[in-house]
Amino acid sequence: MQIFNCDHCGHVVFFDSVQCMHCASTLAFLPDQITMAALAPAPDAGVGLWRRLGAVQPGALYRLCYNHATWDACNFAVPAASPHLLCIACRQTHRLPDLSDPGNLRHWIRIEEAKRQLFYTLARLGLQPTDDSAPPHAGPTYAFLADLPGEPGIVTGHHGGTITLNVAEADDDERARRRIALHEPYRTLIGHLRHESGHFYWDRLVRDADKLDAFRAVFGDERLDYATALSEHYAQGARTDWSHHHVSAYAAAHPWEDWAETWA
Ligand SMILES: [Zn+2]
Ligand SMILES: [Zn+2]
Ligand SMILES: [Zn+2]
Repeated sequence: MQIFNCDHCGHVVFFDSVQCMHCASTLAFLPDQITMAALAPAPDAGVGLWRRLGAVQPGALYRLCYNHATWDACNFAVPAASPHLLCIACRQTHRLPDLSDPGNLRHWIRIEEAKRQLFYTLARLGLQPTDDSAPPHAGPTYAFLADLPGEPGIVTGHHGGTITLNVAEADDDERARRRIALHEPYRTLIGHLRHESGHFYWDRLVRDADKLDAFRAVFGDERLDYATALSEHYAQGARTDWSHHHVSAYAAAHPWEDWAETWA
């Protein structure tokens, strides 16, 4: 995991830290600066405001994300001038499971943690705008949902800019069970999210950027019927020589999956 330094005392801090272990400063990630920062309460400036410590951006004011204060589910900050209570990353989540269910709450917190790691990677690559005023659809949006009795199961996937994840994927035992049942290669939540973000960015970077010929030269023709290809993959398993041509067995299922696996 990427390490940072407390900008108050210089001690090593981590991406998910909320307090410096050395000087006890409150820490938060500043999406607009793509960095961790030490903050001190600034009640003189306004209710709930924090002032950045250290030499960079001296005196800059932030609020802690609403999901930090309410659920202990986020360590990102919001610029003080923002009209939003939620940070830019939490605002990408458009649908949530019933958080009064303790299992859902626990799973959702783990998923948001993985999602913030993906946000950071995409931001560093210049693929995810970090300015607080960026439009909500500048990056992927997310739906984190739980299966409900009597309703069809929630299927993890990407459609039309939204990444849907069944919150049961945050349960290690359940994820292992599904992985074995579906012959899927993923071992982590971040792996799931990175894969699905590959489908999101295929739309942006290949389809919408007129790069289909270059894509097909490397990954094959994506016009191959997707539903048929997937059901054949699940019925018969991957071709035995997949490792000569693909990064994973699942990548052999369809050119879109080859791209998403390679991206992840
Ligand atoms: Zn410190
Ligand atoms: Zn947040
Ligand atoms: Zn996929």
